Amino acid sequence: MDRIVFLGPPGSGKGTQAELLCKRENFIHLSTGDLLRGEIAGKTEFGRMAKDYIDNGLLVPDEKITDYVLNHIEINDLYKKKVIFDGFPRRVFQADSLINAMKGKNSSIDCAVLVYLDDSIVIERLSNRLVCSRCKKIYPGTYEEDTCCECNQKLVKRTDDNADVIKKRLDVYKAETEELIGYFDKKSMLIKIDGRGTAEEVFEKIKKVLNENV
Ligand code: AMP
Repeated sequence: MDRIVFLGPPGSGKGTQAELLCKRENFIHLSTGDLLRGEIAGKTEFGRMAKDYIDNGLLVPDEKITDYVLNHIEINDLYKKKVIFDGFPRRVFQADSLINAMKGKNSSIDCAVLVYLDDSIVIERLSNRLVCSRCKKIYPGTYEEDTCCECNQKLVKRTDDNADVIKKRLDVYKAETEELIGYFDKKSMLIKIDGRGTAEEVFEKIKKVLNENV
Protein backbone atom coordinates (compact mmCIF):
# COMPACT_ATOMS: atom_id res chain seq x y z
CA MET A 1 0.00 0.00 0.00
CA ASP A 2 2.24 2.81 -1.26
CA ARG A 3 -0.14 5.41 -2.66
CA ILE A 4 -3.16 6.04 -0.49
CA VAL A 5 -6.04 8.47 -0.94
CA PHE A 6 -7.33 9.86 2.36
CA LEU A 7 -11.03 10.72 2.51
CA GLY A 8 -13.19 12.19 5.25
CA PRO A 9 -15.00 15.37 6.20
CA PRO A 10 -12.96 18.43 7.12
CA GLY A 11 -11.96 18.00 10.77
CA SER A 12 -12.10 14.18 10.71
CA GLY A 13 -8.42 14.09 11.65
CA LYS A 14 -7.25 12.81 8.28
CA GLY A 15 -4.55 15.53 8.10
CA THR A 16 -3.18 14.50 11.49
CA GLN A 17 -3.22 10.83 10.49
CA ALA A 18 -1.44 11.63 7.24
CA GLU A 19 1.24 13.45 9.25
CA LEU A 20 1.74 10.44 11.52
CA LEU A 21 2.05 8.07 8.55
CA CYS A 22 4.68 10.38 7.05
CA LYS A 23 6.70 10.60 10.24
CA ARG A 24 6.53 6.94 11.16
CA GLU A 25 6.07 5.08 7.85
CA ASN A 26 7.97 7.39 5.47
CA PHE A 27 5.07 8.55 3.35
CA ILE A 28 5.11 11.90 1.55
CA HIS A 29 2.11 14.05 2.49
CA LEU A 30 0.47 15.67 -0.53
CA SER A 31 -2.14 18.01 0.96
CA THR A 32 -3.87 20.18 -1.64
CA GLY A 33 -5.20 22.47 1.11
CA ASP A 34 -1.63 23.16 2.31
CA LEU A 35 -0.33 23.57 -1.25
CA LEU A 36 -3.10 26.05 -2.03
CA ARG A 37 -2.50 28.02 1.19
CA GLY A 38 1.20 28.14 0.18
CA GLU A 39 0.22 29.54 -3.24
CA ILE A 40 -1.97 32.14 -1.52
CA ALA A 41 0.81 33.13 0.89
CA GLY A 42 3.23 33.38 -2.05
CA LYS A 43 0.72 35.63 -3.85
CA THR A 44 0.93 33.58 -7.05
CA GLU A 45 -1.66 33.88 -9.80
CA PHE A 46 -2.94 30.38 -8.99
CA GLY A 47 -3.18 31.35 -5.30
CA ARG A 48 -5.24 34.45 -6.07
CA MET A 49 -7.65 32.37 -8.17
CA ALA A 50 -7.94 29.65 -5.46
CA LYS A 51 -8.46 32.13 -2.60
CA ASP A 52 -11.87 33.25 -3.88
CA TYR A 53 -13.15 29.68 -3.78
CA ILE A 54 -11.52 28.71 -0.46
CA ASP A 55 -12.77 31.77 1.42
CA ASN A 56 -16.31 30.99 0.29
CA GLY A 57 -16.15 27.30 1.25
CA LEU A 58 -16.27 26.18 -2.39
CA LEU A 59 -14.09 23.72 -4.28
CA VAL A 60 -11.54 24.98 -6.79
CA PRO A 61 -12.76 23.90 -10.29
CA ASP A 62 -11.83 20.31 -11.19
CA GLU A 63 -9.66 20.96 -14.23
CA LYS A 64 -7.63 23.71 -12.57
CA ILE A 65 -6.85 21.73 -9.41
CA THR A 66 -6.25 18.50 -11.34
CA ASP A 67 -3.72 20.09 -13.72
CA TYR A 68 -2.02 21.69 -10.73
CA VAL A 69 -1.73 18.41 -8.76
CA LEU A 70 -0.64 16.27 -11.73
CA ASN A 71 2.02 18.87 -12.48
CA HIS A 72 3.15 18.76 -8.83
CA ILE A 73 3.43 14.95 -9.04
CA GLU A 74 5.47 15.17 -12.25
CA ILE A 75 7.82 17.90 -11.01
CA ASN A 76 8.47 16.10 -7.72
CA ASP A 77 8.66 12.65 -9.34
CA LEU A 78 6.06 11.18 -6.99
CA TYR A 79 4.69 8.42 -9.28
CA LYS A 80 6.58 5.56 -7.63
CA LYS A 81 6.97 7.04 -4.13
CA LYS A 82 4.95 6.39 -0.96
CA VAL A 83 2.34 9.17 -1.02
CA ILE A 84 -0.69 10.09 1.06
CA PHE A 85 -3.16 12.08 -1.05
CA ASP A 86 -4.94 14.34 1.42
CA GLY A 87 -7.69 16.54 0.01
CA PHE A 88 -7.21 15.25 -3.54
CA PRO A 89 -9.06 13.69 -5.28
CA ARG A 90 -12.30 15.17 -3.93
CA ARG A 91 -14.49 14.35 -6.91
CA VAL A 92 -14.88 11.56 -9.46
CA PHE A 93 -13.31 13.61 -12.27
CA GLN A 94 -10.22 14.17 -10.11
CA ALA A 95 -10.05 10.50 -9.08
CA ASP A 96 -10.32 9.25 -12.67
CA SER A 97 -7.62 11.70 -13.76
CA LEU A 98 -5.28 10.67 -10.94
CA ILE A 99 -5.78 6.92 -11.45
CA ASN A 100 -5.25 7.25 -15.21
CA ALA A 101 -2.13 9.42 -14.76
CA MET A 102 -0.71 6.80 -12.39
CA LYS A 103 -1.48 3.97 -14.84
CA GLY A 104 0.21 5.94 -17.61
CA LYS A 105 3.42 5.80 -15.55
CA ASN A 106 3.04 2.08 -14.64
CA SER A 107 2.05 3.03 -11.13
CA SER A 108 -1.19 2.83 -9.15
CA ILE A 109 -3.38 4.22 -6.42
CA ASP A 110 -3.57 1.32 -3.97
CA CYS A 111 -6.54 2.17 -1.72
CA ALA A 112 -8.74 4.94 -0.34
CA VAL A 113 -8.95 5.26 3.45
CA LEU A 114 -12.17 6.93 4.66
CA VAL A 115 -11.99 8.42 8.17
CA TYR A 116 -15.64 8.95 9.16
CA LEU A 117 -17.13 11.08 11.94
CA ASP A 118 -20.51 12.68 12.94
CA ASP A 119 -21.24 16.29 11.87
CA SER A 120 -21.61 17.51 15.47
CA ILE A 121 -18.09 16.33 16.37
CA VAL A 122 -16.68 17.83 13.16
CA ILE A 123 -18.22 21.27 13.90
CA GLU A 124 -16.95 21.28 17.46
CA ARG A 125 -13.43 20.20 16.47
CA LEU A 126 -13.07 22.69 13.62
CA SER A 127 -14.50 25.68 15.48
CA ASN A 128 -11.85 25.27 18.15
CA ARG A 129 -8.74 24.04 16.37
CA LEU A 130 -5.58 26.06 15.61
CA VAL A 131 -2.77 25.51 13.10
CA CYS A 132 0.88 26.51 13.20
CA SER A 133 1.41 29.54 10.95
CA ARG A 134 4.63 27.97 9.64
CA CYS A 135 4.62 24.13 9.59
CA LYS A 136 0.78 23.79 9.52
CA LYS A 137 0.70 21.30 12.42
CA ILE A 138 -2.87 21.11 13.75
CA TYR A 139 -3.70 21.63 17.42
CA PRO A 140 -7.04 20.84 19.12
CA GLY A 141 -8.85 23.63 21.00
CA THR A 142 -7.76 22.05 24.27
CA TYR A 143 -4.06 22.76 23.54
CA GLU A 144 -2.82 25.21 26.16
CA GLU A 145 0.15 26.95 24.49
CA ASP A 146 -0.08 29.64 21.79
CA THR A 147 3.04 28.58 19.88
CA CYS A 148 3.91 25.41 17.93
CA CYS A 149 5.74 22.72 19.92
CA GLU A 150 7.88 21.88 16.87
CA CYS A 151 8.87 25.19 15.28
CA ASN A 152 7.89 27.66 17.99
CA GLN A 153 5.82 29.80 15.61
CA LYS A 154 2.49 31.39 16.48
CA LEU A 155 -0.69 29.27 16.29
CA VAL A 156 -3.49 30.79 14.23
CA LYS A 157 -7.07 30.06 13.23
CA ARG A 158 -7.61 29.18 9.58
CA THR A 159 -9.78 31.81 7.84
CA ASP A 160 -12.20 29.06 6.72
CA ASP A 161 -12.60 27.58 10.25
CA ASN A 162 -15.62 29.68 11.27
CA ALA A 163 -19.13 28.29 11.85
CA ASP A 164 -20.71 29.52 8.58
CA VAL A 165 -17.89 28.36 6.36
CA ILE A 166 -17.63 25.03 8.26
CA LYS A 167 -21.32 24.26 7.61
CA LYS A 168 -20.87 25.14 3.96
CA ARG A 169 -17.75 22.94 3.72
CA LEU A 170 -19.69 20.03 5.22
CA ASP A 171 -22.52 20.56 2.70
CA VAL A 172 -19.99 20.69 -0.14
CA TYR A 173 -18.32 17.55 1.25
CA LYS A 174 -21.61 15.65 1.37
CA ALA A 175 -22.89 16.81 -2.00
CA GLU A 176 -19.70 16.11 -3.86
CA THR A 177 -17.36 13.76 -2.03
CA GLU A 178 -19.88 11.10 -1.14
CA GLU A 179 -20.09 10.19 -4.81
CA LEU A 180 -16.35 9.60 -4.64
CA ILE A 181 -16.78 7.25 -1.68
CA GLY A 182 -19.19 5.16 -3.81
CA TYR A 183 -16.68 5.29 -6.68
CA PHE A 184 -13.84 3.80 -4.58
CA ASP A 185 -16.24 1.34 -2.95
CA LYS A 186 -17.31 -0.01 -6.36
CA LYS A 187 -13.66 -0.48 -7.27
CA SER A 188 -13.15 -2.40 -3.98
CA MET A 189 -10.52 0.18 -2.98
CA LEU A 190 -12.36 1.63 0.05
CA ILE A 191 -11.19 1.06 3.65
CA LYS A 192 -13.41 2.64 6.36
CA ILE A 193 -11.97 3.84 9.68
CA ASP A 194 -13.99 5.21 12.65
CA GLY A 195 -12.45 8.65 13.40
CA ARG A 196 -13.54 8.83 17.06
CA GLY A 197 -10.87 8.58 19.77
CA THR A 198 -7.40 10.03 20.13
CA ALA A 199 -5.04 10.50 17.20
CA GLU A 200 -2.96 7.55 18.45
CA GLU A 201 -6.00 5.26 18.67
CA VAL A 202 -7.10 6.13 15.13
CA PHE A 203 -3.51 5.72 13.88
CA GLU A 204 -3.34 2.18 15.30
CA LYS A 205 -6.59 1.28 13.49
CA ILE A 206 -5.21 2.61 10.19
CA LYS A 207 -1.88 0.84 10.57
CA LYS A 208 -3.64 -2.43 11.34
CA VAL A 209 -5.81 -2.35 8.20
CA LEU A 210 -2.91 -1.23 5.99
CA ASN A 211 -0.82 -4.14 7.26
CA GLU A 212 -3.71 -6.55 6.69
CA ASN A 213 -4.08 -5.34 3.10
CA VAL A 214 -0.42 -5.34 1.98
P1 AMP B 1 -8.52 21.45 2.95
O1 AMP B 1 -7.38 22.01 3.72
O2 AMP B 1 -8.23 20.12 2.31
O3 AMP B 1 -9.82 21.45 3.74
O4 AMP B 1 -8.76 22.45 1.71
C1 AMP B 1 -9.12 23.79 1.91
C2 AMP B 1 -9.84 24.32 0.68
O5 AMP B 1 -8.97 24.20 -0.50
C3 AMP B 1 -11.10 23.55 0.27
O6 AMP B 1 -12.23 23.97 1.03
C4 AMP B 1 -11.20 23.89 -1.21
O7 AMP B 1 -11.70 25.19 -1.40
C5 AMP B 1 -9.75 23.89 -1.66
N1 AMP B 1 -9.33 22.54 -2.15
C6 AMP B 1 -8.42 21.70 -1.58
N2 AMP B 1 -8.31 20.55 -2.28
C7 AMP B 1 -9.18 20.65 -3.32
C8 AMP B 1 -9.57 19.77 -4.38
N3 AMP B 1 -9.04 18.54 -4.51
N4 AMP B 1 -10.50 20.21 -5.26
C9 AMP B 1 -11.04 21.42 -5.15
N5 AMP B 1 -10.76 22.30 -4.17
C10 AMP B 1 -9.83 21.92 -3.24
